Amino acid sequence: MARDSVPGFVRRAVSGWGNYPVEMCDVYRPEHVEELRRLVTSAPQATLTPRGCGRSYGDAALNAEGAVVQSDRFDRMTSFDEATGILRCQAAITLADIIEFFLPRGFFFPVTPGTKRVSLGGAIASDVHGKNHHRSGSMSASVKRFTLIIASGESIVCSPEHNAEVFWATVGGMGLTGLIVDADIQLRPVETAFMSVEYERIAHIDRLLERIAESDDAYDYAVAWVDSMASGGSLGRSVLIRANHATREDLPARQRDDALAFRQKRRPGVPFTFPNSTMNALSLKALNSIYYAAHPTKRTLAPCDAFFYPLDGIANWNRGYGSQGVLQYQCVIPEATAREGMIALLESIAASKIGSFLTVLKSLGPESAGLLSFPMQGKTLALDFPNAGPEVIEALHRLDAIVLDHGGRVYLAKDACMTAASFEAMYPRLPEFKRIKLELDPKGRFSSSQARRLGLVGDIDPESGGR
Ligand SMILES: Cc1cc2nc3c(=O)[nH]c(=O)nc-3n(C[C@H](O)[C@H](O)[C@H](O)COP(=O)(O)OP(=O)(O)OC[C@H]3O[C@@H](n4cnc5c(N)ncnc54)[C@H](O)[C@@H]3O)c2cc1C
Repeated sequence: MARDSVPGFVRRAVSGWGNYPVEMCDVYRPEHVEELRRLVTSAPQATLTPRGCGRSYGDAALNAEGAVVQSDRFDRMTSFDEATGILRCQAAITLADIIEFFLPRGFFFPVTPGTKRVSLGGAIASDVHGKNHHRSGSMSASVKRFTLIIASGESIVCSPEHNAEVFWATVGGMGLTGLIVDADIQLRPVETAFMSVEYERIAHIDRLLERIAESDDAYDYAVAWVDSMASGGSLGRSVLIRANHATREDLPARQRDDALAFRQKRRPGVPFTFPNSTMNALSLKALNSIYYAAHPTKRTLAPCDAFFYPLDGIANWNRGYGSQGVLQYQCVIPEATAREGMIALLESIAASKIGSFLTVLKSLGPESAGLLSFPMQGKTLALDFPNAGPEVIEALHRLDAIVLDHGGRVYLAKDACMTAASFEAMYPRLPEFKRIKLELDPKGRFSSSQARRLGLVGDIDPESGGR
């Protein structure tokens, strides 16, 4: 098969949402499942990377040495069982499309990441988590089954009961076991399209951790925005945001008849990439102070869309970080060392002066059976750093060392520069993953730039791999 003979083939610059790194990639955009299967078995490139909406930040959905398979044409809903809330759909459908259709009908996702502009397949492959991981677990908890096209071109159906090993290697497996083409997903009923939200200003990390611990049982959702530029007695200065789905009784009487109306703010986007100097330490300090000042302690009702996806309201907001992009970083520290780990991370960030505008801290609950799933019981910190050059990457490697020292790990969907050695030390179930990968894909057909950087593929010893 010649690459140019496939309809929809292009060679173009591709990046994740962080715009770093950017790689020239062969990109296929197949139209139907049979074309997809043919690509898996016969495309001339040695390796393939599934790609959904490209909302992972780094190089998870890039493949400069092979080809990227953009699956966005597989975006249909197939069936819905109102009694059980189970939706069957193709894997490239976005969470946004599902919400737009189902929220007005009284259903929402049990678990959603902070953007709805992701594909279902990408969300499963990253085993994404939301602001309610401590209560509801990660995406895999609501995936009933999926169909996976593996390297041989065969389709296999996987669920926690059937082909369970492949199921748990695929959730969080970053597209390396095959291409998910459809899935059954559990939706949850909601009475309204609103959230009852409480904001609380908090002066210090210790108070924040105390308040989060007190909230875990009473609120489905809890997340803290943290001022990463604050230090000393203000370390961990934050705004804690806690919420539950609003009931009809929570709404003012005049809104009850329209309780499920889907409200989505359409706001202007960032029209062009900002100059690299825009997000410097001074502007970050100012923005952090403005955010803190603008969120006094209060209770309010917020549309689901505004609560879950505040950044989706600004199209292409990632351009605001300049042409060198943004380096997202998310780690988790287990409960036993969470306080010390969070303090060490925040002190390191404040001392480095590189500054993160959007810093978020939340609780994670027990880990899933996903071999490479990120969440573990503890506290997670997500940060974004304007990519101002090698000193930022060095600062991230210092954070990796702190995370390792405290027994934690870094999230693959946000990673662009972790080393293979750190990754191996953070993910103890990697040998099991490699063994299953070898059985499913002995020639390493599915790969990615991230997988090669982290040693997730290649150099597999068939004698010892994971056994
Ligand atoms: C603003 C923002 C907020 C975010 N908030 C959160 C959050 O709160 N929690 C969280 O967990 N994540 C969060 N993320 C990360 C995001 O949810 C994940 O990166 C998700 O995987 C992106 O989905 P996608 O369709 O864009 O996948 P892509 O970025 O295209 O791909 C991600 C990975 O999935 C694989 N993949 C994609 N499609 C398939 C498929 N059909 N079959 C097999 N593998 C596939 C790719 O190979 C790649 O390894 C956030 C990202 C952004 C930009």
